Amino acid sequence: MNSDSNCQFDALKYRADFPILSQEMSGKKLVYLDSAASTQKPRQVVEAMMDLYYKYYANIHRGVYQLSQKTTDAYEGVRTIVKEYINANLDEEIIFTRGATESLNLIAHSYGKVHIKEDDEIIVSEMEHHANIVPWQQLCKETGAILRYIPFDDNGELILEEYEKMLSNKTKIVSVVHISNSLGTINPIKYIFAKAKEVGAVTIMDASQSIQHVKVDVQDVGADFMVFSGHKIYGPTGIGVLWGRMPLLKTMQPYQTGGDMIKAVSFERTLFADVPAIFEAGTQNIEGAIGLGAAINYVNSIGIENIAKYEHYLLEYANAKVAEIPQVKIVGTAKEKASLISFILEDIHPHDVGTILDKCGVAVRTGQHCTEPTMKHFGITATTRASFAFYNTIDDINVFIESLKQVIETFE
Ligand code: PMP
Repeated sequence: MNSDSNCQFDALKYRADFPILSQEMSGKKLVYLDSAASTQKPRQVVEAMMDLYYKYYANIHRGVYQLSQKTTDAYEGVRTIVKEYINANLDEEIIFTRGATESLNLIAHSYGKVHIKEDDEIIVSEMEHHANIVPWQQLCKETGAILRYIPFDDNGELILEEYEKMLSNKTKIVSVVHISNSLGTINPIKYIFAKAKEVGAVTIMDASQSIQHVKVDVQDVGADFMVFSGHKIYGPTGIGVLWGRMPLLKTMQPYQTGGDMIKAVSFERTLFADVPAIFEAGTQNIEGAIGLGAAINYVNSIGIENIAKYEHYLLEYANAKVAEIPQVKIVGTAKEKASLISFILEDIHPHDVGTILDKCGVAVRTGQHCTEPTMKHFGITATTRASFAFYNTIDDINVFIESLKQVIETFE
């Protein structure tokens, strides 16, 4: 098993940072191919969180004692780590949430309810995760705004001519996924946002599937808001990020209210805190933020460009191998793709595929991947999805391919 000398990426070295990957399942080596759902956590992340618990845990903000100040500094320091990672302007533009879903709900509530009126238009794409559809549907229901969907073709590529026809001075928000979690398509987000800007719309980037695979530079792509979840980038569950441009964040109403998001409270009125505290009501996920900071530092230590290159190499290899199995039909064949393969196997239900693969030690995801409209486009209800991360190897893919052949043999 090797990470292949052609690519000069020492996947085995990094894989050793992930103790969970060295175990067996059903007496076979575990081949974890579900990183698009959640990535595994390296020792460095777990240890950073343990360090917090063992050495300096206290509640943050306004604690006069040293322990609390130390925790506060560490928590606030993660804003700087995220800011630098995504090339934001200010630490204060980084808001901690529970994840991408909460970040999108926060924008829909706090920006949407202030700025969106009847007959305004919001554009998303037909390949969005439910998290980037439902909050906008709710907002439209409440405001009378109209939600429009950019269609995609049978390869899973957005039809940009249709998008451009939709744009008008009624378009107020364009919210699009950078990389589709069920098709793997890398969308031309920079172009999409540039077009949105021509009509003065606010742009939102769902970076849930890109933040861990490719360089995300919010300035370069022309985003106004960007969201992602910590658990997709080797960090803990229950922490995520909303980044927004400060002038926009300043126009928004709070999402939740209560402690920690105020300057002063009396029985008559409340003075809210400034951004970002105004959007972080209640005791925050302190350990989550520390873990997220450690995860980004870890990714930086490898280099996101190196990760992208290696994962692309894995994808190319897997594509070539899958192509040798005629029963496999890949769902999502865009020219620009990230490291996942969604597929159906003639007459075999994805849940059966997943269950048999599991017996071979191979963990894949099956279902509609929270993208029911995307499945509907292809006239299917589910796919099997194998998704790769830099801790996967060519050997993992070989095991996956051999196991797929076993699935087919079982049903023959
Ligand atoms: N958007 C995309 C593209 C995703 O893949 C996911 C998670 N599968 C989400 C949003 C939602 O992320 P979370 O469940 O962590 O909030």
